[in-house]
Amino acid sequence: MHPINQEIQLPVLEEKKVALYLKREDEIHPLISGNKYRKLKYNLIAAKENGLDTLLTYGGAYSNHIAAVAYAGQKEGLRTIGVIRGEELRQNWWDNPTLAMAREHGMQFTFVSRKRYRHKGDKNFQEELLRQFGLFYAMPEGGTNLLAIKGCGEILTKADVDFDVICCAVGTGGTLAGLINTSKAHQHILGFPALKGDFLHEDIRKFALSQNWSLQTAYHFGGYAKVSDNLIEFINFFYRQTGIPLDPVYTGKMMFGVLAMVENDRFKPGTKILAIHTGGLQGIKGMNKLLTKKGRPLISVT
Ligand SMILES: *Cc1c(COP(=O)(O)O)cnc(C)c1O
Repeated sequence: MHPINQEIQLPVLEEKKVALYLKREDEIHPLISGNKYRKLKYNLIAAKENGLDTLLTYGGAYSNHIAAVAYAGQKEGLRTIGVIRGEELRQNWWDNPTLAMAREHGMQFTFVSRKRYRHKGDKNFQEELLRQFGLFYAMPEGGTNLLAIKGCGEILTKADVDFDVICCAVGTGGTLAGLINTSKAHQHILGFPALKGDFLHEDIRKFALSQNWSLQTAYHFGGYAKVSDNLIEFINFFYRQTGIPLDPVYTGKMMFGVLAMVENDRFKPGTKILAIHTGGLQGIKGMNKLLTKKGRPLISVT
């Protein structure tokens, strides 16, 4: 499974003499984020090896990870349980495209308050899950664990050694850790967090085997799943120019950041950049529903 590296043609790249390629991991599957698919690969094998027929995981209403677990579970013949943040969703989860899609692929939900969700690791809560669902293979929110990082170590290929800089959107940092651990010493891995906060450095340091990486924290647009009209305009512009759809939560922010850095001469002329398109396109529908309610511009990438 080796998606192509597609060269991006834009006037600013030509002007600054920077080469930018996009690794089309989004094309691995129309609904499942490329990186979520890779994060699940070895976890699915582990679940089966341990004789477990149920996957349980955690997430918010728009989670690409929830969508991916539902889909992969059904494909592999495993029962899937989603512990979903937000009790209020019990009343209307079917209005949420991500949850509706997850249910279509057989996921069973349990909705919990934000407070209980924060304490989901507590013994009491875990015992209750065990009583309710029996033995299960658990994956954390966002799907990051050691096996997920191993899976993300299969994103870069031998042919990618020519790139100087590898760019990737960051949620939990698992994908970035996989890239760092399979990069070459002459390469720099640049992460673009989609969330606010400083905890990420620490999280990534725990998993990273080398030090050729940094985070560019200026492009989170107010935090997780927050979007500005400016960002939406950029995503629509990028689609018109290149024919490539970006998602509003991760890849849109990363690509905005990469091109802003090119514009600001942050890369030397002659630099070869590989940006990872991690997917996330299933989230556009839900985001457009929210934007419609607020009377704001919509993402139009089809
Ligand atoms: C989850 C996700 C990320 C971030 O992955 P992490 O391993 O959590 O950092 C990036 N892009 C997309 C599209 C995602 O769904």
